[in-house]
Amino acid sequence: MSNTNKKGVLFVHTEPYNQAVKRQLNNPWSDQVANGYNTELERLAYSSRLLGSNPDIVLEGGGNTSIKLQENDLSILYVKGSGRNLAQVTQEDFTPLLLSPLQRAVEDNVNHAPLIEKIVAQAVINPDSARPSIETLMHAALPYCCVMHTHADSVLAAMNVDEIHQVHSTIYGSLAPLVDYQHSGFDLARACWQALKNQGNDQSIGLILAFHGAVSFGKDVRQAYENMLHLISLAQNYLNPFIDYPPADGSGDHLLAPSWPTSLVELTLEDLHKRINALAGFPLHLYQVKDFSFMKLLAIHQRTGLLEQGPATPQHALYTKRYPLLNRDLKAYARDYRHYLDTSLGTADSAWIDVAPRIVIDSQWGLCAFGKTLKEAQAASLMYQHDLQVMELAQRHGHYRSAPIDSIAQAEFEYGGYALRKKTTL
Ligand SMILES: [Zn+2]
Repeated sequence: MSNTNKKGVLFVHTEPYNQAVKRQLNNPWSDQVANGYNTELERLAYSSRLLGSNPDIVLEGGGNTSIKLQENDLSILYVKGSGRNLAQVTQEDFTPLLLSPLQRAVEDNVNHAPLIEKIVAQAVINPDSARPSIETLMHAALPYCCVMHTHADSVLAAMNVDEIHQVHSTIYGSLAPLVDYQHSGFDLARACWQALKNQGNDQSIGLILAFHGAVSFGKDVRQAYENMLHLISLAQNYLNPFIDYPPADGSGDHLLAPSWPTSLVELTLEDLHKRINALAGFPLHLYQVKDFSFMKLLAIHQRTGLLEQGPATPQHALYTKRYPLLNRDLKAYARDYRHYLDTSLGTADSAWIDVAPRIVIDSQWGLCAFGKTLKEAQAASLMYQHDLQVMELAQRHGHYRSAPIDSIAQAEFEYGGYALRKKTTL
């Protein structure tokens, strides 16, 4: 169901909340299709589309893949272009770069942002190709032909807990060494390179990026793809005993009782929408999911502050902000959100980012997502529904935890394109 008001701003879509947690991963890879492609680059695009088409593995612009190929005696890294959607990529969406200067930058620890930028820019072979992925250096630094990176729900639900080290050694160990949280770009590339060197062995098939996602690698596209599915399946196997909830003995029943303050501020959704637009400084579209089955999470939230912890992976904050508006008090939200951005980024960088919420959770309105376009609002809604599932499942086996607060603010700034815009106006 949908409707549009006269100004063309208010769109309301209602759909049920999808809270089905998948117990098993299906693998749509077809040898017949894969063998029909002539090059590994085409097969990389094919396998990337398979990963990108499964929302439990990749959501809206998340994830990136790469391959290293020998061409005319040169080692070339083809990495997904920034912002390209894995679900639709073709071989043209991969940017070719000279591999050796990128590898050297990581190995020599050239930890100087302007120099790194210059090295990456100069390594790009075709200036007309897309800006290479933010994780280009990580792809370059890992010494395997094919590398894949996703933010799969199951991996996040298993690993995004205070007990991360213990859970990691139970599920993965040296099969996929744990990389402590590092910001995307050079820091993450260097940390991945070091983790593999220090903790990896011949059996290693990938890396687990704390509070961020997973990386798989292999000698060819098929192996890296299967390794990614294997890493995800291991997390699913670990989570399966926690999917049936509450436990049969009734010990978790209290978590299911929705509890919500009854003294909500008198307000219509339309009024709130107008105020959110005013706060943002531009009109936002609304995508509303009117299903209240997720309200049980609010009971957990009231005791643990779960929903204010932050998103399952920092990139989601670009669409959902770090946390939702929960009590209709927009003024308090704006004040607190500005305080978080000021403290994390400094007031100059903070000023680039608006503080209008993108997610509102409400006992009468359900889950309301806001975005500059309807598509963006819909993506925010989908991401938040996946994040809710991750949070809930993580909370069942441990204590849900998101990436460090400062790094989420940094992700909002960089993924939001403000870092680039700031540079061009300097
Ligand atoms: Zn990522």
